[in-house]
Amino acid sequence: MTDGTTNFINGEWVAAVGGAVFASTNPANTSQTLGLYARSDQRDVALAVAAAKAAYPAWRKTPAPARGALLTKIGRLLEERKEAFSQAMVNEMGKVLVEARGDVQEAIDMAHYMAAFGRLPSGSVVPSERPDIYCSARRVPVGVVGLITPWNFPIAVPTWKMFPALLAGNTVVWKPAEDTPGMAVLLIQLLADAGVPTGIVNLVTGYGEEAGAALVEAEGVSTISFTGSTSVGKHIAGRCGQLMKRVSCELGGKNAIVVLDDADIELAVKGCLWSAFGTAGQRCTAASRLIVDKRIKAHFAERLVAETLKLRMAPGADPTAQIGPVVNRTQLERIHSYIAIGQNEGATLLTGGTPLTDAPLDKGCFYAPTIFDSMTPGMRIAQEEIFGPVTGIITVDGLDEAIAIANGTDYGLSLSLYTANLRRGMRALDELESGIVYINLPTSGAEIQLPFGGVKNTGNGHREAGWMAMDWCTEWKAAYINYAEGSELVRAQIDV
Ligand code: NAD
Repeated sequence: MTDGTTNFINGEWVAAVGGAVFASTNPANTSQTLGLYARSDQRDVALAVAAAKAAYPAWRKTPAPARGALLTKIGRLLEERKEAFSQAMVNEMGKVLVEARGDVQEAIDMAHYMAAFGRLPSGSVVPSERPDIYCSARRVPVGVVGLITPWNFPIAVPTWKMFPALLAGNTVVWKPAEDTPGMAVLLIQLLADAGVPTGIVNLVTGYGEEAGAALVEAEGVSTISFTGSTSVGKHIAGRCGQLMKRVSCELGGKNAIVVLDDADIELAVKGCLWSAFGTAGQRCTAASRLIVDKRIKAHFAERLVAETLKLRMAPGADPTAQIGPVVNRTQLERIHSYIAIGQNEGATLLTGGTPLTDAPLDKGCFYAPTIFDSMTPGMRIAQEEIFGPVTGIITVDGLDEAIAIANGTDYGLSLSLYTANLRRGMRALDELESGIVYINLPTSGAEIQLPFGGVKNTGNGHREAGWMAMDWCTEWKAAYINYAEGSELVRAQIDV
């Protein structure tokens, strides 16, 4: 068990300057404390930023293929430690083991994908309108980047930020979520073991309003990459605007699955189960709205409820578990509060709607998979991100109404449509307003070689993963080089 010496600054594990600590507990058994972690404040962040700043010039000059080779090594070490990381993740944030393995696998994939970028083009050469002038544009690093991350993907989300940032030549200060500091310590120790040079990646554990806010404000941090709730993201983006910092935000979602009357109902039911209840509904891509054509709604609802009742709730470490606990008691209570909100607005419960209190689930934060019926588009449960195993059915008449309702929220991360009709599928692909569209697939299941991110209140225009992952952590530098003979000045534009 850690004792609070969990900040990694300039290559050393240190306690918070003020000596304060906080505890991380197991959501499947909240009486089990997993470790004590440094509760950092502005002083710790200042030290971490100074270390990252000092390390930056040498890292920036390290050839990109060498930075890529280090990522390959990190990827291999992640493969070796995948099982240990996955077990630790189950204990710390509750997702079931197969999902935890998937979380680590995303980091492995990203390490190898980004490693290749060390030898791929990082710019372009373009013609000049003048003779003997060489014109090019290339990516350059932005300097020290601050990463602020949530608990629901405690390895995947940080590495989706960190690996592109490192490959590009930036140095890093990372503030992980307060619910998953243990996973952050494991990842940083792995980077150190892989040989990441001193000061390149620094960790400050602690609370958002203390360490996170200090990182946003810190002088010397040029760029913030944030994943978390929309309310915090808006606040951070506002501060970064005032401070003229670059900021990339990946925020909340209110994702929907549309099931049309020609859909393969069994396929759609499986997709809805996974999208609504995978990771106990605590995915930014979770489907908390099921928009179902009235012609098949009764059959669909019956099949969905029947399959939901078969889901096995258990601590994530149990190999038969399909759904684990939610992350903490506060979150459990917040999820539960939405049941009364939905019922007061006229929605009815088809199943669920309660915390689970039979032993051994009573020791942890388990919530029954919940399906509302008679949900209408304007209800709070149809508009607000609940972030738990709660979904609801909205009944519609045909494709036009389905698309209008799917688009009718402030969010735009992941939308899905089930149909056997290619023309309807392609129309949905054109008209659904989200960063990710799935046809005949669940709303969760992103692959790292495609851009990940959303529109509207889900983000501020940036993307993670894919080749676009380099955009938020690099600037473009244009170059004009004159190699003409003679002393004549040939000016651009006005001389042609
Ligand atoms: P959160 O916003 O509460 O916290 C996220 C991080 O921000 C944490 O590290 C927290 O300590 C920090 N933080 C909180 N207040 C801060 C402040 N004032 N200044 C600086 N940092 C601060 O979110 P959460 O509960 O950890 O995560 C769940 C949310 O994340 C959901 O809304 C989910 O949709 C979203 N999410 C989005 C994506 C995506 O890619 N779009 C991916 C995963 C999660």
